[in-house]
Amino acid sequence: MTVLSKADLLEGLRESRPARLQELYERADSVRKEHVGDAVHLRGLIEISSHCARQCMYCGLRAANRDLERYRMTREEILNCALQAERLGYGTVVMQAGEDDRLTAEWIEEIVWWIKRETSLAVTLSLGERRQEELQLWRTAGADRYLLRFETSDKKLFRAIHPSRSPAGPDRIALLRTLKTLGYEAGGGVMVGIPGQSFASLADDILTFRALDLDMIGIGPYIGHASTPLGSGALRPPIDPSEQAPSNEEMVYKMLALTRIVCPNANIPSTTALATINKVHGRKLGLKAGANVVMPNLTPVKYRRLYQIYPAKACIDESATDCNQCLRGQIHSLGRFAGRGTGARGTLEMPASIVPDLSSALVQLQA
Ligand code: SF4
Repeated sequence: MTVLSKADLLEGLRESRPARLQELYERADSVRKEHVGDAVHLRGLIEISSHCARQCMYCGLRAANRDLERYRMTREEILNCALQAERLGYGTVVMQAGEDDRLTAEWIEEIVWWIKRETSLAVTLSLGERRQEELQLWRTAGADRYLLRFETSDKKLFRAIHPSRSPAGPDRIALLRTLKTLGYEAGGGVMVGIPGQSFASLADDILTFRALDLDMIGIGPYIGHASTPLGSGALRPPIDPSEQAPSNEEMVYKMLALTRIVCPNANIPSTTALATINKVHGRKLGLKAGANVVMPNLTPVKYRRLYQIYPAKACIDESATDCNQCLRGQIHSLGRFAGRGTGARGTLEMPASIVPDLSSALVQLQA
């Protein structure tokens, strides 16, 4: 693990000279190659419910947003998506939702059991801040991973943009530690360029990833949603303008690259939010700056437009088959290959073309 100090991280985050940035991305890419190889893991995303009881100040799914039509997928629709993930050769499905109290622990448990029994997929859950008993139940049912982004390690800013449901609401950092003790692969992450977010707090975010020893780290740009207090400008967290981190793609690439160097064997996606601010090259540039995961959308097209955490999301009209072909094409154009297994942290996969060569060499050795 490379030991970068907070001062080193700040220097990297403030860097703007193109040649230095290119060096940073190349260094991150070589750390990625050495520690997690050339496989790019495909995690099929199923956005199972757009209902949410929370009032996060940046999110289009917040309960107060009455402009949004809501949906909740049926069990059969979710199971069909999981079967499709397996047909398309993905190793993981990610079931994601707002904090929807009607997704009961038992209902989710049954779906996890079914997917684990009928497929070879890893199951990742991303269902918000849930009780430890629920997390335990799903882990026992076979869930492999849990994603819970903490969005910013700046506690004051977090409280301003993410009001608790109760005064003693759980602390996301503490919940991430709990997830690890329950045996989940735990994923956290942040938005980049939140109004009120400083360069220094982004450096702290990377140090927090390292301190938590996260298995998965999601980093995407903050994209304002006009139907929210933060996106409409009604909420303006105070900050010295020279300290405000921008929410542009370069800032995201810098965060990805520095995170890869500091957390060399974590799974790091090139996010859909990044593909939203640069629809043509965003995903590929993320993969060249240290990322090793992409998340093709399996949600039925009729629901995708309604899962509107931020507006104008990339890939909302493409069928699952089109998404699959497009992403595989992007991966191959980088000289890399799509992972075939579940892509757990720390697994190094070889390209399929090498596997037959090795087995024929073994046959020759045995002869
Ligand atoms: S960020 Fe998550 S918890 Fe907050 S309003 Fe959006 S979906 Fe709900």
